[in-house]
Amino acid sequence: MADDTPPLPPLRDVIRRHGLAARKALGQNFLLDLNLTRRIARSAAPLSECNVVEIGPGPGGLTRALLLEGAHRVVAIERDERCLPALAELATAFPGRLEIVPGDALAIDPADLVPAPRKIVANLPYNVATPLLIDWLPRIADFVDFTLMFQKEVAGRLVAAPGSRDYGRLSVLTQWLATVERLFDIAPRAFVPPPKVTSTVVRLTPRPAPQASCDQTVLERVTAAAFGQRRKMLRQSLKSLGDAAALLRIANVEPTARAETLTVVEFCALARALAAKAS
Ligand code: SAM
Repeated sequence: MADDTPPLPPLRDVIRRHGLAARKALGQNFLLDLNLTRRIARSAAPLSECNVVEIGPGPGGLTRALLLEGAHRVVAIERDERCLPALAELATAFPGRLEIVPGDALAIDPADLVPAPRKIVANLPYNVATPLLIDWLPRIADFVDFTLMFQKEVAGRLVAAPGSRDYGRLSVLTQWLATVERLFDIAPRAFVPPPKVTSTVVRLTPRPAPQASCDQTVLERVTAAAFGQRRKMLRQSLKSLGDAAALLRIANVEPTARAETLTVVEFCALARALAAKAS
């Protein structure tokens, strides 16, 4: 720890003083153990060369870890107004390095908040974690990487390979654009209050180029249709998109294959075939 680290009150005191009883509706499970929050922050290193966007700082446990681990500038979006005075105190302790943006992260494009190079680091609110990630995908190339905590089950879907039970829409849409690494798990007892499930910290790194070319909206349609009936053969599950047999033929995909066995590149071929038929 640097010698000029400002004295910070324990997070439990911050929570008590500001009356931050956790609200389930806001996905609030706070991490108070600075060893764990610093481990997450170190996983996102190097921090000093990037602008860091944090989603949902809450009482500021991960935020202070990011600053203590050397983040030069952190911009944090928090929806719960009760947390703002506590976060303002933290901003005072780290002059010029922390900015709080009050609001709903679903309504804010994080790439608009800070110049490049940028990273997102967050212990995401579970209830909006997947929608947030889906929203960020179209501008994923604007970020160096993302270090994010999800429910373990969601992390499993993010890294799942074709043929595995967890492989689905989220796997395809994410792996198309990024490499995904599971870093480590965090047990429920580490949080206040403890959630019902284990959490997993994941790193997403944008690929230099998507795995194969196609339009994202069309890929979303194809994966929605295919995984909407994941046990059915594609010649059946893709009928909602039109002439399924023709699509599969153009994309060179077996009509008897099922969504759960198709690679990302094959899904892209289907998306291109659908786009070509529509034009
Ligand atoms: N970062 C803190 C930590 O690690 O202890 C809190 C993490 S807690 C799981 C999720 C945080 O996200 C809460 O502070 C919650 O108020 C905030 N939050 C929930 N929904 C949000 C939204 N739509 N936009 C921004 N923040 C949100």
